[in-house]
Order: sequence, then structure tokens, then C-alpha cells
Amino acid sequence: MRPEATMSGLPMTRSAPGSRRNKIQKTFNNIKITILCGFVTILVLRGTIGVGNLRGAADGDSDHKVVEDIERILREIRSDSDPDDSNLRFSANVANVSTTDNVTLSGTDASAYTAGKRYTLGSRISDWDLQRKQWLRQNPGFPSLIAGGKPKILLVTGSPPNPCDNPLGDHYLLKATKNKIDYCRLHGIEIVYNMAHLDLELAGYWAKLPLIRRLMLSHPEVEWIWWMDSDALFTDMTFEIPVNKYDGFNLVIHGYPDLLFEQHSWIALNTGSFLLRNCQWSLDLLDVWAPMGPKGPVRDEAGRILTANLKGRPAFEADDQSALIYLLLSQQDKWGDKVYIENSYYLHGFWAGLVDKYEEMMEKHHPGLGDERWPFVTHFVGCKPCGSYGDYPVERCISSMERAFNFADNQVLQMYGFSHRGLSSPKIKRIRNETATPLEVKEQLSFQARISSR
Ligand code: UDP
Ligand code: MN
Repeated sequence: MRPEATMSGLPMTRSAPGSRRNKIQKTFNNIKITILCGFVTILVLRGTIGVGNLRGAADGDSDHKVVEDIERILREIRSDSDPDDSNLRFSANVANVSTTDNVTLSGTDASAYTAGKRYTLGSRISDWDLQRKQWLRQNPGFPSLIAGGKPKILLVTGSPPNPCDNPLGDHYLLKATKNKIDYCRLHGIEIVYNMAHLDLELAGYWAKLPLIRRLMLSHPEVEWIWWMDSDALFTDMTFEIPVNKYDGFNLVIHGYPDLLFEQHSWIALNTGSFLLRNCQWSLDLLDVWAPMGPKGPVRDEAGRILTANLKGRPAFEADDQSALIYLLLSQQDKWGDKVYIENSYYLHGFWAGLVDKYEEMMEKHHPGLGDERWPFVTHFVGCKPCGSYGDYPVERCISSMERAFNFADNQVLQMYGFSHRGLSSPKIKRIRNETATPLEVKEQLSFQARISSR
């Protein structure tokens, strides 16, 4: 079954932020300039600062501050780039280019990636497996296994460095973060929340690539990096990733092989939630995945190639998901045997087909199943709660996110004797009476204690 394509009747999309955002940004800048001009005119007319003393300190500190503010705002408006770009950029070293592992693109427009000036994520590393193994041997205090012999997983997520366009977006980022903290706490998974653009070339949905690479190199004790989008919520608080199933695989991603290999569909896989093993293979994959990401002409041109080659893809700049699909299709021999395409549970679940069924699920099923009976992850693809231009009406997205959050939160609150009053309500009610012997109430024990006592 392909819920993304069938259950909602809506295609699972990803909006094209590049062009629309730029237009909005320009309009916004024009408004800022207009307001600024008005502000300066009023000041001049009122005589509080004369044109002649704009640069002087005629009226002391406050005038100085006004001038500084105006100059700063003008600088920000006029410059698209961050003045500190060069300090932040640790990886855009084009001198370090390797020409041996070109991304082979079908069609005629592959020159941007194959001409030798290819973007790289950083210094080429070719013996990571050996380096990591030696480090682990020398640092027994940092085991790569956790209690129960399970490999260490690091859940990585994040959001843009600046406030959301709509304050509600920030509220839902917070709820989505609380949801992830709860899940990770209950299952012994460490969590990283990133708000920095480690590489300004790879802003937006590409930001995960340099981040994942950096975390792999900085946390050799971690076996799996699990990327999860900020707009994806855990909706099954009991389900656990069956990691042992993935011995021998390095990338685990939700998707459908027939959509990928037969239809070349741009929604065959979803990069909103996937696991990448900390190994050389993954560093190599990131190296060939990233060159379509640098914003500007490269990302735009790569977008045209992706749209020409992937079924159903609208015309917009290259996104990480399409680029990965394209890579796995064009270099299947190189990567295919280490990629596990998972669809036996919702490592990613498209929200539109799930959020209206939560009541039915609660009636008929129970947490721990992870599939359409009780979805592990509900991902708000195309909603863009933090931006302004999603593919779906913002009210529908917000009310659906609220439902998903409360559906999941009930599973947490229940441990403490509470529950939400309804799936749309942040209010809660008591579902168990207080007792003088709390340790005798199984439901009252923490989730972890319950799991380990099974
Ligand atoms: N993201 C980030 N920094 C940014 C922009 C995006 O870390 O500056 C992350 C964020 O977690 C977001 C993800 O990239 O959820 C992918 O973008 P989005 O969810 O908007 O794409 P969609 O899932 O709708 O295709
Ligand atoms: Mn997303």
C-alpha cells in the first residue's frame, strides 16, 4: 500500500521555496527600504537630526545609535550574504576537489558537477572505518553499544537559525522538539538539535548533510545517525527501530522500491526520517550527494536535471530528497546493496492519510505496532509550519499537527496518570487516582522500567 499516493488523494509534495522565497524576500526588503526612507524623512523634517549632522554626534548617543541602526539595516538589506560567511564555512574548499567520483548524470547538463570544480563537504576522508575502529579500541569509556547490546543511535534534528515567519511555527517547533525529547528519553537515544547553518551553501533542507557528516566525525562512538525533520512527530511512543534487521546495511529509509526503480518517482523515498551508519560508505554517499546542494546556479541547474528525470517532480531547485533518489537510480550498482528501503512500518508516514484516523486507531489498536494501525512517525511534509508558503492551508496543517502531538503526548502523559481532554485540546484530565503505593501500579512506572520488566 502506498499511503502517500493513495490515502489522501493528494500527492506528497515538497514546496519550491527558492523562487517564491526570493520574491518575498525582495518585497520585504522593498518594504523595509520604504519604511526606512519614511523614518529618515520624519527625523529630518522634525529637525531632531539635520542632514548635516547625520554622521556627527550632534545630539549625543541616541543620534549615533540611529545612524548606526540605519547603516546596519541598509547593510543587511543590500547584502544577501552573511558578513561572517568566511568564518563559518569550514567545508566549501573547492581546491580539495576529487574528480574521480563524479556524479554521473544522464542528459546533457552534467557539466556543473563533472567539470572538476565540484563542491565538497570537507577534506576527503578515505579510511574512516579504520580510524573509527582504532579510536573505539583506544577509548573503551565511549562504547558504541548501549545497555542491552544495542548500537548507539544519535537522533539529529534542527530548524533554521532565525524565528519562524509565523510565531505559531515556533510553538509547533517546540512541541515537535518536546515530542522527540520524550521519545529519546524513553528509549535511551541521544538527541542533537541544531540551529546553525554549518555551511551556508547548504542552507534549507540541505543543511542536514554537513551536519550529519560533522556529527559522524565528532561522535565515533555513535553507530547510527538518525536524521528526523523538525516537522516529523513520533506518534508511536512504544515502537522501536528494529536495528538488528539492518546489519549489513548502511542507509535505512522509508520508501517503495517499485516507485523508485520502475517509476523513478520523486516521492519514492522520503528524506524526512532516515538512518545512516557511521562508516566510510556513508561519508562517500554524502560526498556524492552534496554537490547538487550549493544554493544559486548549481542548485537551480541541478533542479532542472532532477525535474527532467524524476516522475511527478515540479520545476524547482534541487532538494536533498530528489537528489538522493536520482543518485540511487543513476548509480544503483554502487549504492544499491547497502540501502534498506523500509515500508513495513512508518519510519516516515505522510500526515494527510493518518491524522484523521487517530480516533479509529485508538479504538481498535494499541501503541507498539508502528504501521498504519499505529504509525511510528507522522511527518508534515509540505506544511512548512515555520515558513510562510506550504502546499497546504496553514489552518489544516496546524490543527493536524496539534492532533498528532496530543495523540503522541497521551502515550507519555498516561504514564503519569493524565491524558489530554481530546486530540485537539492542550488541556489535560486525570485518568488515575493518586495512591499511597505508587510502585504497585504498573502503568505508573516509567516506560523504561516497564519495557525492561517485560
Ligand atoms: N532544516 C534545518 N535548517 C534549516 C531549514 C530546514 O535544519 O535552515 C531542516 C528542518 O528540520 C526541516 C527539514 O530541514 O524539517 C526539511 O525541510 P522541510 O521539513 O521544510 O521539508 P519537507 O519535509 O516539507 O519536504
Ligand atoms: Mn519535513
